[in-house]
Amino acid sequence: MSKVHLSPPDVGPLEEAYALAAIRSGWVAPLGPDVDAFEAELAERIGTAYAVATSSGTAALHLALLAVGAGPGQVVVMPTLTFAATANAAVYTGAEPIFVDCDPTTGNIDVDLLEPLLERLDTEGRRVAAVLPVDMFGVCADYERLLPICARAGHPVIEDAAESLGATRSGRAAGSFGRAGVLSFNGNKIMTTSGGGMLLTDDAELAARARYLATQARQPVAHYEHTEIGYNYRLSNVLAAIGRAQLCRLDGMIRRRRELRDQYAKLFAAVPGVRLLADGDPGANCWLTTIVVEPEASGWWPAELAAHLAAQDIETRPVWKPMHLQPVHAGAEAVLTGAAERLFANGLTLPSGSGMSDHAGERVRQAIGEFLCSR
Ligand SMILES: *Cc1c(COP(=O)(O)O)cnc(C)c1O
Repeated sequence: MSKVHLSPPDVGPLEEAYALAAIRSGWVAPLGPDVDAFEAELAERIGTAYAVATSSGTAALHLALLAVGAGPGQVVVMPTLTFAATANAAVYTGAEPIFVDCDPTTGNIDVDLLEPLLERLDTEGRRVAAVLPVDMFGVCADYERLLPICARAGHPVIEDAAESLGATRSGRAAGSFGRAGVLSFNGNKIMTTSGGGMLLTDDAELAARARYLATQARQPVAHYEHTEIGYNYRLSNVLAAIGRAQLCRLDGMIRRRRELRDQYAKLFAAVPGVRLLADGDPGANCWLTTIVVEPEASGWWPAELAAHLAAQDIETRPVWKPMHLQPVHAGAEAVLTGAAERLFANGLTLPSGSGMSDHAGERVRQAIGEFLCSR
């Protein structure tokens, strides 16, 4: 019996053919025609004017923050419930992260906390480089409320859409909401280049600045002239080719993840004390299905289900450990309600990979069924 992973890469013959064609074309060096085409295809898909392919989502976040002027003496406002990369990118620039608690139903930044925080920071004369919402597990943040608040305060929004490629909100694509949006093509994401990312924007100047910083801040002259410190953050042509194949398959992969989410929803529908995180969001890409367990009502803790599944070689994971609880961010400013800590204690993410076979899906549901019966 092979192990069922949480969200493994879903690659096959199409990706193989694209990668092989890229190698045979001679464009093995970083950059090349597949990078250009990949950028154009993603900009078209998301509906932004520009796309800049990067070596990772973290690199794209770093570039986006640098491009809006983030640096020492400034703060970047972000949710506490996110992957470490969101905060790391801010710290790379010399800015300080300020962590905001989450909406308990979606896990996304709690917009009720945002407006008073921005007002307070303004009163205190603090310099806010950007507000950096994250579309948790493939569900867009509440942009109808968030965008006007940030616009009134005069702060740019950088959207961390690393987990939400293919998701929508009110008909708009994830990655298109801020001054810049950032995607990740890490191996566990909804679509992968094995490693890679993308910065999306309608702002020509921002796109040009990001491209320049990502290629060692090299001046456009033959003799390698540099007036600023740059980075080596661009995507390889071979990896962009894999991304183009994945993009052809994206809608099918999202459909499969939705199917898995619906099957889990059915399985847990009648189980007391269990709900799905962001249940019923019509625009979710269903990257990862997460259950939230109230042990007083269910009679069991998510860790007990996790142990039962692990014994059958089925991988699960808690939700992100909130940034304000991370030793590396001890002492960082945070506006808290306790919602993120509760989701960290009560959430469990279930196998959600689009490559999961019907047989493996059945095995997971059967194992969960056994656990529920034993309670
Ligand atoms: C994966 C992820 C990133 C980082 O992307 P990489 O491509 O792994 O660098 C950033 N933010 C969030 C929320 C992520 O889930």
